[in-house]
Amino acid sequence: MSDNVEKYIKRKVYKSTNSRIAQKFVDAGLEKLRACINCGTCTGGCPSGRRTAYRTRSVLRRALTGDESVLEDIGIWFCSTCYTCYERCPRGIPVTDMIIKLRNIAVEEGHILDPHFVLANKVFYVTGHGVPANGEGNQKWRDLRESYGLPPLPPTVHMHPEAVKECQELMKSVGFRDLLDKIEKQKEKEKLEAEKAEANKIEDKKKEKEKK
Ligand code: SF4
Ligand code: SF4
Repeated sequence: MSDNVEKYIKRKVYKSTNSRIAQKFVDAGLEKLRACINCGTCTGGCPSGRRTAYRTRSVLRRALTGDESVLEDIGIWFCSTCYTCYERCPRGIPVTDMIIKLRNIAVEEGHILDPHFVLANKVFYVTGHGVPANGEGNQKWRDLRESYGLPPLPPTVHMHPEAVKECQELMKSVGFRDLLDKIEKQKEKEKLEAEKAEANKIEDKKKEKEKK
């Protein structure tokens, strides 16, 4: 092995690939991530990366090496799951599955975007659908379905409203309800702290003015 290649392999970034997040990938059967050669093909073909600061290779590398800030990085939500990287990775790494798993880990640890939280908490849990078609304001969805020759409502909890309760029980039994409750409390706490900090800032400014 040439000196250069050896130096490359020993770069700091390769020293620790046994991070807590990497272990979660392994537990989920996604240990193939460790075969990444950092070539950047995933980033190069990523349509989301062309329009945002999201970089697939960098996100995976950070996860692998234990940079936990990646769980709070909004970039991981910019992936459109188009599977281009999955098709092109020369090491056959299921890149898109990795990104989805990373999002799962982020949510399990309370890092969820506000719109996703509202959707999960107020829409999905209540109606059993991410995009409910049965509400008064959703006639357009029913019309659209009918224009394709489909029944206005899908054969899901919409047709069987009695099953919503079963779905909710299922969500409770896998811990999803508890997770949402925990995140809701955390968000309320953060909101109160932010309001308090803002009020203190205004008070300090007022005092400064009075001193002058
Ligand atoms: S394309 Fe595959 S091998 Fe190359 S950086 Fe991305 S994940 Fe790693
Ligand atoms: S699946 Fe996601 S990360 Fe992969 S190319 Fe598509 S948008 Fe980019």
